Amino acid sequence: VLEVRDLWKEYPVGDETVVALQNVTLNIMRGEICCIFGPSGSGKSTLLNQLSGLEKPTRGEVLIGGIPISRLSEEQLTNFRQRHLGFVFQSYNLLPQLTATENVALPLMFRGVPKPQREQAARELLARVGLSHRLNHFPSQMSGGQQQRVGIARAFITRPDIVFADEPTGNLDSKTTTQVMDMICSFARDFHQTVILVSHDPEMASYAHHIVTLRDGGIVGEQRTQHIEKERGFHASNIHSQQVLLFDP
Ligand code: ATP
Ligand code: MG
Repeated sequence: VLEVRDLWKEYPVGDETVVALQNVTLNIMRGEICCIFGPSGSGKSTLLNQLSGLEKPTRGEVLIGGIPISRLSEEQLTNFRQRHLGFVFQSYNLLPQLTATENVALPLMFRGVPKPQREQAARELLARVGLSHRLNHFPSQMSGGQQQRVGIARAFITRPDIVFADEPTGNLDSKTTTQVMDMICSFARDFHQTVILVSHDPEMASYAHHIVTLRDGGIVGEQRTQHIEKERGFHASNIHSQQVLLFDP
């Protein structure tokens, strides 16, 4: 579903050039949970930003579903992103003046879905992440884990082909991390969606089908750990994820 060949990203800093990514070649298959690991400064966020079209690479091309996204105009790219991609952020990035329901419904508003329908869809997803009792809460009235579950519901509400997540559990404790990852995996599995996530937590490897390790902007290790089909129902079997979803500390 995503293909890159010989991708480079350089940033000018003063009169020097920082090579943030070099010679990255990568194929990510539909339905995969792909984890990008690497030490701080190794280029993980830079790679994610190129893959999702938030930045343009210096060299090389990113193909999503065969479409060379770096060749799209700004407007086409915005459109493409709204239609095909979802994002989960380390700092949640919820809009503080909107309720949980309104935050989750927002991507559907951009698509012109009428308010009753989009809020109904948002309530359904919030129920799925165990937040039926927080529908009208504002972000400041929720815990970090709850805010991230809102963030996940928002990322998945458009049924995007690929969800990008930069350190989605970076601000969460290990128990909440498990919950949040189980939710991400259960959404991805049910809708056969691809998730590309960045982390420096080795625990994340247990959720991955595909692990990519970066160092100094280059790939130094790549491993496919599980076939997607075999993986179905393994990490968060339906029963297990139901329990997780019903549990809200
Ligand atoms: P962390 O784990 O700390 O988030 P990372 O692996 O995500 O690190 P990146 O943010 O991708 O690392 O940065 C990779 C390298 O590129 C770093 O050396 C960084 O200083 C440099 N870099 C990133 N963004 C820019 C920028 N906008 N301008 C100049 N240099 C940059
Ligand atoms: Mg980073």
